[in-house]
Amino acid sequence: MSSTLDFEITLSQQPTPHAERERILADPGWGQHFTDHMITIRYAAGRGWYDARLEPYGPISLDPATQVFHYAQEIFEGTKAYAQPDGSVVTFRPEANAARFNRSARRMAMPEIPEELFVRSLELLVGTDRDWVPRTEGYSLYLRPFMIATTRALGVQQPSQEYLFMVIASPSGLYYPRGVRPVTVWASQEYTRAAPGGTGEAKCGGNYAASFLAQAEALRNGCDQVVWLDATEHRWVEEVGSMNLMFVYGSGPDARLLTPALTGTLLPGVTRDSLLKLAPDLGIPVEEGRIGIDQWQAACASGEITEVFGCGTAAIISPVGGVKGPGREWTIGDGEPGPVSMRLREELIGIQYGTRPDPYGWVH
Ligand code: PMP
Repeated sequence: MSSTLDFEITLSQQPTPHAERERILADPGWGQHFTDHMITIRYAAGRGWYDARLEPYGPISLDPATQVFHYAQEIFEGTKAYAQPDGSVVTFRPEANAARFNRSARRMAMPEIPEELFVRSLELLVGTDRDWVPRTEGYSLYLRPFMIATTRALGVQQPSQEYLFMVIASPSGLYYPRGVRPVTVWASQEYTRAAPGGTGEAKCGGNYAASFLAQAEALRNGCDQVVWLDATEHRWVEEVGSMNLMFVYGSGPDARLLTPALTGTLLPGVTRDSLLKLAPDLGIPVEEGRIGIDQWQAACASGEITEVFGCGTAAIISPVGGVKGPGREWTIGDGEPGPVSMRLREELIGIQYGTRPDPYGWVH
């Protein structure tokens, strides 16, 4: 039924004036401004998905006993729309985000949404608010699909019977306004992100709520982000902040990549997956494996590891310049962005912005 669900469209009667929008698009920052419209689709057990709407962006009203406020049954996604040289707009692998959204939904005992409906929601919002897609190089329109549990009940015996799916969009500027700058990362010994059997591979809000205190600890220690180590042995490197990690061994024609394998406690990044396909085609072999924090330090000291970078939708590729932890500190290479990181970054960004061919069929 859902595949035939039609959207009821209500356009904003008070869209942002042209001059105001242009002012925002000139310097959008990140996640602070929102477009004129949003998508809402409802779900009820026994009925399925219904009441799909595109409507003016604005607050929603929920009963204080709504399930999501108490038990955090919530999932989200993050992807971007990019302006192309010919004036058109594309999204990047939206079906990969749809598939991950549904994997997150299954883990959180929430209903899956047909991939087709998820992608159509993004298309409709981006199409309606296409004037909000920044044309400035390196800027994009960030898309945030999410789903919340809306049953009004405090019982914890069963998941919500009703849900609300929404998509909002936010113009975003350069992640690195002053050029790519390596981040310093903090290897937390106190906090972990995800335990075996937990929700690490789901993109649920609770994972992020639990990370803020560790992030504050990283900042207190003069670092930009947290390196997450595994929860069992406190040793295996998993992710950094909200990015997957890639380690470059060797250099020049001998360079190869290692990325932590998806053990169930890591978020399977779309950027990570894209690099796993792209790098070998550029002659850089990739291995999914594991690396301990001590090994990381030793391989930097010996010069075996030459570069390390985080990868994710927000920054695409973010070089890591140094690591700190209780009683230890080391630099990666010379602490500056390395050639392998920058090459992969350029290739991927080129596909997204339409300045390089897309042999993979990733742009939509
Ligand atoms: N890990 C975590 C914990 C994240 O929040 C993200 C961002 N979604 C990523 C990795 C990178 O995923 P993606 O490449 O799909 O943005």
